Amino acid sequence: MNPFEYQKVDSAKGAVEAIAHFGDAKFLGGGTNLLDLMKNGVERPNRLVDISRLPLDKIEETPDGGLRLGALARNTDTADHPLVRERYPLLSQAILAGASQQLRNMATNGGNLLQRTRCYYFTDVGFAKCNKRTPGSGCGALGGFNRIHAILGASDSCIATHPSDMCVALSALQATVRVLGPNGERKISMSNFHRLPGEMPQMDTNLHADELIVSIDLPQSPYASHSHYLKIRDRASYAFALVSAAVALDLDGDRIRSARIALGGVAHKPWRSEEAENLLSGQQLNVHAFRRAAERCVFGAKSYEYNAFKIELAKQTIVRALSQAGGQA
Ligand code: SF4
Repeated sequence: MNPFEYQKVDSAKGAVEAIAHFGDAKFLGGGTNLLDLMKNGVERPNRLVDISRLPLDKIEETPDGGLRLGALARNTDTADHPLVRERYPLLSQAILAGASQQLRNMATNGGNLLQRTRCYYFTDVGFAKCNKRTPGSGCGALGGFNRIHAILGASDSCIATHPSDMCVALSALQATVRVLGPNGERKISMSNFHRLPGEMPQMDTNLHADELIVSIDLPQSPYASHSHYLKIRDRASYAFALVSAAVALDLDGDRIRSARIALGGVAHKPWRSEEAENLLSGQQLNVHAFRRAAERCVFGAKSYEYNAFKIELAKQTIVRALSQAGGQA
């Protein structure tokens, strides 16, 4: 591990000021991903700004009927919170599908958004070619073992996937991320928070290096009664998604008023398909409508040598998740 400076801060403003003067500084919250990456040499910050004691761990109702999740609330506390379980069971399910109990006890909500890809060519510095770790070096996964890689929105520079389960649910629930920077606060929609790789795969998000995530805000939701998070993975726990689907339905009897669909494990960001959602609006609950939406969701998918199975898997995951959400399974 490289030497680094350590600074503990006691206010959000102080955290932003502390990081502003150091190009390679990082915030330290739960540290569940960052410390691993530092130990194996992928991340090499020259300073850690410890934000773990900031008062950003509350989960509270907002005046418009939504819920504000503090950036430093632990994943376990968020998944188990009575208001999350009652109003956003999709989010609770998604969080509990991720990692292990021990990791969820440490991991923070803000840190979950900033998880880095688990592409093995990225996390193992023994592989020289990784544009995300070393811009301009190439992509080892393109011609390598790419079974876990993207089928949507990838580029010739990077075919990595985003690893979070929580973010897939947040995308379907149209959450907003509140951040604080040197010029004050701004809000970023979940759909704009993570990036597609394009020619700059080293940038996972649209968050600036000197901005601190303060909270994740959930709007009032009509989807509590009919939602489902389905994660398909190689083993039943402590594994990342090959494909996952966060789906939610607002129903009038057996007619769909509106729907939300987001996929995980298929792209560099949670993959929400408004086109697929619109196809479901006004439809009767049935497997044919679900299949049409699933086909639309993966329209334009492109596979590589080892991951072609993901295209059909994604469709079947969507259909099964929608069937569960609609009480059809
Ligand atoms: Fe690196 Fe992305 Fe290629 Fe993986 S897919 S080797 S993260 S550039």
